[in-house]
Amino acid sequence: MNRATALTGLCQERVFDLLIIGGGATGCGIALDAASRGLSVALIEQNDFAEGTSSRSTKLLHGGVRYLELAVKHFDRVQYNLVKDGLRERGLLLKNAPHLTKRLPLVTPLYSWWQVPYIFAGLKFYDILAGQAGIGHSRLLSRKRALELFPMLKAEGLKAGVLYYDGQFNDARMVTALVATATEHGAIMVNHVAATGLIKEEGQVCGAEVHDRLSGETWAIRARGVINATGPFADTVRRLDDPKAAALLKVSSGIHIVLDGLFAPPDTGLMIPETEDGRVLFVLPWEGHALIGTTDEPAELEEHPRAAAEEIDYLLRHVSKYFDLQLDKNDIKAAWSGLRPLVFDPEAADTAQLARDHFIQVAPSRLLTISGGKWTTYREMAKDAVDHAVTTFDLQPQQGCWTADIPLTGGREYRPDGDQLLVSRFGLAPDVALHLHHAYGDQASRVLEISGGEQHRLLAEDHPYLEAEVSYACRHESAGRAMDVLTRRLPLALLDRDAALTALPRVIELMAVELDWGAQRQAEELRIARQRLTEAL
Ligand SMILES: Cc1cc2nc3c(=O)[nH]c(=O)nc-3n(C[C@H](O)[C@H](O)[C@H](O)COP(=O)(O)OP(=O)(O)OC[C@H]3O[C@@H](n4cnc5c(N)ncnc54)[C@H](O)[C@@H]3O)c2cc1C
Repeated sequence: MNRATALTGLCQERVFDLLIIGGGATGCGIALDAASRGLSVALIEQNDFAEGTSSRSTKLLHGGVRYLELAVKHFDRVQYNLVKDGLRERGLLLKNAPHLTKRLPLVTPLYSWWQVPYIFAGLKFYDILAGQAGIGHSRLLSRKRALELFPMLKAEGLKAGVLYYDGQFNDARMVTALVATATEHGAIMVNHVAATGLIKEEGQVCGAEVHDRLSGETWAIRARGVINATGPFADTVRRLDDPKAAALLKVSSGIHIVLDGLFAPPDTGLMIPETEDGRVLFVLPWEGHALIGTTDEPAELEEHPRAAAEEIDYLLRHVSKYFDLQLDKNDIKAAWSGLRPLVFDPEAADTAQLARDHFIQVAPSRLLTISGGKWTTYREMAKDAVDHAVTTFDLQPQQGCWTADIPLTGGREYRPDGDQLLVSRFGLAPDVALHLHHAYGDQASRVLEISGGEQHRLLAEDHPYLEAEVSYACRHESAGRAMDVLTRRLPLALLDRDAALTALPRVIELMAVELDWGAQRQAEELRIARQRLTEAL
């Protein structure tokens, strides 16, 4: 759906069953869960869908190897359940969004002999926990084989390796697919609309004052219940309800840097199980590039957090430690930060929920807040939130949760050989076909229909993105700003800042035609996008 049509639905005089504030993985997952149970749903997102943490993740679908270590070390059943839940959800995402997900082999390099049985046993246990949802068997690698699979690894001191499997996914496009699927089930979801206040009747929250950041208009949306799914901003929205509400969250920053594809083999990732300060570090192939992350540093709450120079240095230092390659800041093509919400006042939340990695809190005003968790388990979090909402707001759904069986848009008619079909049907270059197949799944031909089969690339030959995708994003994926297209409908700005800057004027030109932008709006888009792209994202 395009943004204008969705906006018309949002401005109608009506009372929704649920108003969801926040359009990341959690909010969009809740919208799909609730709408597919037959509830009427509105969702607002102050920036673009997934513009917060949900497009800035490590892009792994995982149970969490780290949680598993904690489970075993501390005989901790809670951590154990977290891993098990994550592995089950990993399997469901691979099934329901096959175009946006894949199985990824990861090598764990081992530089001391004692690590060999420890890490191997741990990863074998990880396989066992996955049970039926398993996606491959971990195995020991000789030093030679580890170096064959990941030739950039530092050879000196390497004893052996362990190969294991996890899932990898396209986080920003997964949110786009969630929005499309929830919309098909009747949800009305609009980006660039912020909740600026909460409406109450007799002390109970029954809607929100909202502000369209693109048009400047303000109005009120009414609902039987309001869900605060604003991730790291959860306390800010809680304080619209109760200005004195005690903080539940602290935020920390996790950054990633992106290097040329030469720094990682195309189909294998690397997991460093413990850095000098006890963190896990990943070097992953991603969209033809190498993605490296992440960090964990105390941070300020910001809508557009930036990767700090010290965090970039930290990642470069570690990569140099484990790689037989010289690299410095000039090798970085893009860097970006995502904010994690960390619950620091467990007493204030329902402890049973805390045990599940996310928390749900219902305020005396009945504002329902959900935060925490991880991308992989968004579906389970959504189910939990909607179950709570049904009782708290006395809603009448037509059925229970069935999202485990709902394929996401693009995944219904997915065929693994879809890229070859695109080549033969439209005569596409193989790299373009592969990109369209993975980004849009069974919807890829709709993108090509827009341009009548023309295949104008947005950039030079080394990027597979088409101009038709910009038009498609405006017509069917609610793109409202140039950065929505450049960062989330396409991953360009998160991969290669200079390439995004080059493509920017043409993207604005195409969007101006689609969205009827005058000269002033085009100049504003150019200014905002240049500013974002020249800062670290
Ligand atoms: C560095 C890092 C790496 C990660 N890697 C992984 C990984 O590999 N795998 C995994 O499973 N998980 C990972 N995670 C966790 C995962 O990314 C998060 O759990 C998930 O994205 C959280 O989604 P969310 O919707 O709760 O929050 P967000 O994505 O932040 O969404 C909240 C939204 O609310 C909006 N909002 C705020 N205030 C308002 C308002 N007043 N009105 C309207 N909208 C508002 C914000 O703009 C934002 O878009 C990672 C997290 C980080 C930080």
